[in-house]
Amino acid sequence: MEINKDLLGQKRKDYLSWDEFFMYIAILSSGRSKDPNTQVGACIVSNTNRVLSVGYNGAPNSFSDDDFPWGRDGNRLETKYPYVCHAELNSILNFPGNKKDLEGAKIYVDLFPCSECAKAIIQVGIKKVIYLNDKYNGTDDNLASKHLFDKCNVEYVKLDVKNHKNISLSLDSKGNNKIKYK
Ligand SMILES: [Zn+2]
Repeated sequence: MEINKDLLGQKRKDYLSWDEFFMYIAILSSGRSKDPNTQVGACIVSNTNRVLSVGYNGAPNSFSDDDFPWGRDGNRLETKYPYVCHAELNSILNFPGNKKDLEGAKIYVDLFPCSECAKAIIQVGIKKVIYLNDKYNGTDDNLASKHLFDKCNVEYVKLDVKNHKNISLSLDSKGNNKIKYK
């Protein structure tokens, strides 16, 4: 069949790249977090660009969000730190499929993983971490994460945001402008 190329039309130019799409999914997931200070989201993606799982930082199942100690100061046992489940760990544990399907996957996360999450990422066979923000760069725990990733052959790359599209989302029942580029 001969296709008249003049009739094909042009594809949209401003669609999201895969990296933007998956990082936005991670960020959107962080919107579910009840933590008043830090909201983190994670999105696990197969090496064929299928979304496998998402997660955000929150209280363990059955630990009521309303009774949870969300504070950061004072007696450690009265802070969030020993109890909160991080986005990366939740995204791994939320995956409903066979654990072997996580082998070779990548994880998008808006904050560089802590060392506990780094170990979980390594142990399930995730091979690449794409992050946005490394605000704890140089702290002992951050250095431990990087040492673990280096030793265990997990690649970590900061998402290059220079030319990325900023978007806003709305729930528009009329079907207009559900995603806006700024
Ligand atoms: Zn963590």
